[in-house]
Amino acid sequence: MRVSDHLRRGPADVGATVWLTGLSGAGKSTIARALAGWPRLDGRRVEVLDGDELRRTLSAGLGYSREDRDANVARIGLVARLLARNGVLALVPVIAPYRAAREQLRAEHRAEAVPFLEVYVSAPVEVCAERDVKGLYAAQRAGRLSGLTGVDAPYELPQSPDLVLDTSRRRVAESVAHLAAVLADRGLL
Ligand code: ADP
Repeated sequence: MRVSDHLRRGPADVGATVWLTGLSGAGKSTIARALAGWPRLDGRRVEVLDGDELRRTLSAGLGYSREDRDANVARIGLVARLLARNGVLALVPVIAPYRAAREQLRAEHRAEAVPFLEVYVSAPVEVCAERDVKGLYAAQRAGRLSGLTGVDAPYELPQSPDLVLDTSRRRVAESVAHLAAVLADRGLL
């Protein structure tokens, strides 16, 4: 094999950050995990950066003020960018409620020419509350929790996301196929 063959990068070597933003229970983790397990990604280096795990570790001590949420997003964004620039497909199912913080992520990736996609995983808050995977919506209603994104804390809608996946209208498999198609279009799959 020639040196140039080693240097040539196919889609399998191109990393990217795919940030799945949206309310709690919208389906971000479900879609990220399903994509990571997709047969077409076999052999590909993929990481799902689990928001809850990173809150317990990398972001231990941070709370849910705007400042702390932005710091959490910036830290996770750094990890994703480092992975992505080394050929990993970094899937990040993290709420990231503030637009400016998401734009900052995009700018940091752009500065290094690392592909970045903002995917808005959307579902009406009533649907998320009905799913209530973590019991957060019930806890908020019962007065045991405050600052729940989309209920009594802001969620700033993405203005020009790379993709919108409405999980109240699409099955998980459809969302995954759509996301994979967008990645393929951009030469990332
Ligand atoms: P998030 O990561 O956005 O907080 P999760 O993925 O943890 O949300 O939870 C979403 C829940 O909604 C899961 O229990 C999932 O099975 C369920 N769900 C139902 N329908 C869909 C759908 N069409 N797309 C994604 N998730 C769905």
